[in-house]
Amino acid sequence: MSHHPTIAVVGSGPIGSAYARLLLEGLPDARVVMFEAGPQLTERPGESVRNIADPDEKARARELSQGPQAGRFRESLGLPAGTVVEGMFTARQGTHLLDFGGEGSAHAPTFPAAAGATNVGGQGAHWTCAIPRPSFSEKVSFIDDAEWDDLIVVAEGLLHAQSAAFADSAVGGGIRSLLEEEFAGELPEGYGPSTLPVAGDPQPDGTMRWAGADAVLGPLIEPGNPLAERFELRDLTLVRRIERDGDVVTGVTVEDLRTKQTSFVPADLVVVAADAFRSPQLLWASGIRPAALGHYLTEHPVVISTVALDAEKMGRFATEEQLDEELARRATNAADPVAAVNRIPFSEPDHPFSLQVMYSETTPFPMPEDAPLARNRWGYVNMGYGMRKFPRYEDAVTFDDAEPDYRGFPNMTIEYELTDAERAEIEVATVRLRRAGEALGAFVAEPRLLPNGSSLHYQGTMRMGPADDGTSVADPWSRVWGVENLVVGGNALIPTATAMNPTLMSVAIAVRGARKAVEQLSARADAAASVAG
Ligand code: FAD
Repeated sequence: MSHHPTIAVVGSGPIGSAYARLLLEGLPDARVVMFEAGPQLTERPGESVRNIADPDEKARARELSQGPQAGRFRESLGLPAGTVVEGMFTARQGTHLLDFGGEGSAHAPTFPAAAGATNVGGQGAHWTCAIPRPSFSEKVSFIDDAEWDDLIVVAEGLLHAQSAAFADSAVGGGIRSLLEEEFAGELPEGYGPSTLPVAGDPQPDGTMRWAGADAVLGPLIEPGNPLAERFELRDLTLVRRIERDGDVVTGVTVEDLRTKQTSFVPADLVVVAADAFRSPQLLWASGIRPAALGHYLTEHPVVISTVALDAEKMGRFATEEQLDEELARRATNAADPVAAVNRIPFSEPDHPFSLQVMYSETTPFPMPEDAPLARNRWGYVNMGYGMRKFPRYEDAVTFDDAEPDYRGFPNMTIEYELTDAERAEIEVATVRLRRAGEALGAFVAEPRLLPNGSSLHYQGTMRMGPADDGTSVADPWSRVWGVENLVVGGNALIPTATAMNPTLMSVAIAVRGARKAVEQLSARADAAASVAG
């Protein structure tokens, strides 16, 4: 190994970006090359598209992220020209379904809403930016609390965590007060209704600048910063294979999607953070196939609803003048409808669920002008509960060497099932959601369980574990068992049943992995230097 280690990072989402940043900060001689299969959307790499004020620009950035479902942009993304199938069920804006129904599409009838984003910044260019901390049994049992708390604080710094977003909103305060009344005495101290921590920076005019991978990359994308000189981001570059020699990874074979040229890039360390489906697929395609790879797939099932806030109920906590002020503030940033974010976090034993309450002036779906609660002066909340899914081997993505997908990788099949254990918790949480909605106003969309895959938070397919016993893919420092310089990152590492948004937890796990990698690469560089000297 040279004195100047090269690190290849696969994927430019928040997790790949956290590795790039921490490795460059920790290793003064290292170089990081980050490969991203999708295009760069914004001048500043990895920025949240929610910050784009122009609606046409925003729509274009979202469509460009939709990989195989990118319609008119398909060819520019290195994909064979294809027509978007008429009536095609598309995913959340900025994402594309894995099972999109076209040629080379994955097979996921039991997990139909599974989606990914293919662009610089990954899903982190489109995310809602909610970053609650995991708690109780959501946490990783083999990382002790003191270390965990430190990892979380570092992760929050990387993501520009803001725990008091819109805290001064009188409407937001009224929502919390009504929920507190409804659930008084039922939730443990410190786990009642509160503001939802988010990733972003409040602006002087009261709006938010939402954080994407750009925030995590920080100095790496600041022109003139010395760290930026050791960082290279190659967009529209697909990593086709991780190459190895015995139990050591030697680099990656990449395809430039603009020129179709394939080349080998040697690396001392490879970090794969290419999402919870495409990372295990890349490992599989590279012949790296631990028994647990792709298995133990979980997500939190989601029950959602929309409620029109009731003037009389809200009026007990906020005045008409305060509402006018709020509406005036909102009018300055019409492009971003979210105005206050609240939650009731996960707690045990009685509330193993996570409630997210997003206040917005508009409903997420069009309402007929003459519908009774259309144009509700007090606005709406989009509310959803996340519940747990207990990990099972049989919930899995598997790969078929004989059937290529649209990119030429072994195609994916997802098998997934909710059991009685989940259904029981979903039922309890749905009753709570109904109570929360009635406490705030009237439902304009009744609580409903979304199809599997809707959470966009896919976990467990490369889970970390304390021992190499066949039930995990990575060791407690995110290194693939048996391959010493291959690190994996992302929500796929999470081994527990969680109900919350997972990105903060995954960044915390990445901080631990990056610290260990810095230690190892420094020790190897020292050893090489002493041999050379
Ligand atoms: P990703 O962000 O998915 O990035 C992976 C990248 O790898 C992609 O850009 C992909 O193109 C690239 N890639 C894949 N294969 C290859 C290859 N072979 N070669 C090169 N590149 C490759 N999470 C939360 O915690 N809170 C939220 O509020 C929240 N809201 C969300 C809302 C939406 C609409 C969406 C889409 C997601 C949301 N998420 C949320 C999820 C969050 O965005 C993800 O947890 C996070 O982005 C995961 O980061 P990552 O770096 O692991 O992967």
